[in-house]
Amino acid sequence: MDRAAKLQEIRERQNRWLRERQAELDRRQVVAELQQQQSTSPQPQQQRRGGPGAPAQALGSSSTAGAVGPSPAGVGLPPLATSVSVAASTASAMAPIAPHMSGIVGSVAGVLPSTLGGVGGVKPEEVIDRLTERITDRLRSELKVELQRESESLAAQQGALDTFLVKELESQNTCPVCYELMVPPQHAPMMLFPCGHSFCGRCLEQHIDRNKKTQCPICRKKIESRAPNYSLQQLIQQVVAKKESAGRAAPSGPLSPGSPARRMLDGAGVEDGLEPSGNTDRVRRQYDRAATRMRVLRNELSDTAVEEEGLNGKVAAAAAVVGHLQEEEQVVVRRLAAVQAELELVREQLAQQGAKVADLARQAEAVRQRRELLQATLGPLEQEVEKLEILMTGVMEMQQ
Ligand SMILES: [Zn+2]
Ligand SMILES: [Zn+2]
Repeated sequence: MDRAAKLQEIRERQNRWLRERQAELDRRQVVAELQQQQSTSPQPQQQRRGGPGAPAQALGSSSTAGAVGPSPAGVGLPPLATSVSVAASTASAMAPIAPHMSGIVGSVAGVLPSTLGGVGGVKPEEVIDRLTERITDRLRSELKVELQRESESLAAQQGALDTFLVKELESQNTCPVCYELMVPPQHAPMMLFPCGHSFCGRCLEQHIDRNKKTQCPICRKKIESRAPNYSLQQLIQQVVAKKESAGRAAPSGPLSPGSPARRMLDGAGVEDGLEPSGNTDRVRRQYDRAATRMRVLRNELSDTAVEEEGLNGKVAAAAAVVGHLQEEEQVVVRRLAAVQAELELVREQLAQQGAKVADLARQAEAVRQRRELLQATLGPLEQEVEKLEILMTGVMEMQQ
């Protein structure tokens, strides 16, 4: 037999002894009470001394017990059997409610037949009835205390669980970009499709509408659409309401000013007092949040680096185009000069040719005038010649 078993056995023996001792004290007290009732019925002023005695009185007054019941004379045992079985059945009726207590009653009942003494004319049945009553009362009050203790511990557990769940919900439902709890109207939770990550409405508006981003800030999946996450919103609003009602119920907690969301994040309403693992949980929540935030910022950094690189490339390309255009400008300027010279030449030729045309036109005019003069002279002369021909023909005919 090892040490632990030995200790256990000693403990059990002690308990058994204590139970027996208690049973014996009860018995003596009950006997004393009954005897006193009998002896003091004609003298009522003595009843108070032996009234429903407190256990301390019974424990401390062994001399009283001795004085009251000095006679060791036993009472006939057979009639007791039925009464004892009453006590035992009381115990078994209690057993389903408080199993660990039935042992006490059982052992008390077991002690009774050997120790119970009808002394000073007290009937054993009365002793048994009193004892049963007393044990039942004690059991009842012990059961009550036990039940109350149990419900208190359940309530404490429930409270700790509630606090834990509230904190979990808070830490899991803050926007990974701005850290605010996602409560409407400004920070209403929005969900991205198809990746399923949620952010507050304001951050998504900034991300998609103003910064023209097309990827989830956390996982970088392409955003195909977004929609209000109503179920999450309901959940968060319930938590906020619960937390606020808890804050009202316990106004001793220091409530910092600011939005309800901020207040919840600061954990100002309820402290971690209830949960022994509060520190670990808080650190883990902080780690989760910081890790997500780090992921978002890393994504943003790499986005920005890519953007910077792209813009640098565009700057270089644009500068190259400028170089090309400058070269082309030089070429065109040179060509322009050549064409200008050509133009001058053509204009010069044009002028020369114009002068030539004018000169020739003048010569043509002079020739025309000479022709007209000749024609004018020739006309009358031809008429003269014609007349003279006719005249000559007539003359020649007359000579013949
Ligand atoms: Zn946000
Ligand atoms: Zn995502």
